[in-house]
Amino acid sequence: MNLPFTLLIDPVPADSSRTNFEDTFHEMDSAAPALRVGELSTQRGDGIFETLSVVNGHPQEVEPHISRLVNSAQICELPVPNPAQWRAAIAHAVDRLPKDGELALKFVLSRGVESGPAPTAWLHATRAPDYRAVRDHGVRVITLDRGYPRGVAEVAPWLLMGAKTLSYAINMAALREAKRRGADDTIFVTHDGYVMEGPTSSVVIRSGGRYVTPAPSGAILHGTTQQSLFEYLEAAGEGVEYRDIPVDELRAADAAWLVSSVRLAVAVTELDGAPFPVDAERTSAFNAYLLGRTA
Ligand code: PLP
Repeated sequence: MNLPFTLLIDPVPADSSRTNFEDTFHEMDSAAPALRVGELSTQRGDGIFETLSVVNGHPQEVEPHISRLVNSAQICELPVPNPAQWRAAIAHAVDRLPKDGELALKFVLSRGVESGPAPTAWLHATRAPDYRAVRDHGVRVITLDRGYPRGVAEVAPWLLMGAKTLSYAINMAALREAKRRGADDTIFVTHDGYVMEGPTSSVVIRSGGRYVTPAPSGAILHGTTQQSLFEYLEAAGEGVEYRDIPVDELRAADAAWLVSSVRLAVAVTELDGAPFPVDAERTSAFNAYLLGRTA
């Protein structure tokens, strides 16, 4: 099968009693037009998505990604996705994808066409960029004020902070700002100085001998890679913790990583222009574990 691979999906309701979804999948030529101009995903970024990694034919963390899609749909008041249909769509694609190397499989649920009757959904798989160098050598990071205080999700739920929406223009602007300042990536902090997440990743630090990540309060995404990494660390007898991280604690940490589904774990090597301690051995152990997952 040639890449990219594209599948259009007719979403079925969450409470459907169907067990076979094959007639709701339509394989597409990836170069052919597929969406209508009235699509609210393209007009307003009004939709949600997930990106998971497929390594040597194994799709990784399928259930956490589907759960997060369901959670995002609830936050955005989109029709609730049918988990069995998404599971089947991912399996349909993986059956037809190359069984070697690393692929990125993105799946999208949009509010659909303006005044249209139904949401639109699709899945798209491509070969993943080659992240070996960045996994080995890490990233230079700047902190950027996200402009909101801690607790924003509770006081302003309409900001959809905990949903993985298609509106990534701000996240991409933050990466451009990092490049402008001679760095590679960003860690968003709240206006009152607490660590949030990267524009496309979760933040994990090692502080006081424990691995710590910001509590998934609704203001950030609950990262599937971070959860997987915590399972690995706990099984290895390490202490893990969800809690608020003041930015000064990040600065004093003895290591920090940005973790995400396709790039996996990358070490922070520089923070706001100052050298940052790196645990290269741990980083390669993390990536060996993440790449070795078969589910
Ligand atoms: N936070 C944001 C804003 C993201 O976009 C991502 C992934 O793209 C993550 C965190 C990490 O999530 P995951 O590990 O599930 O890829």
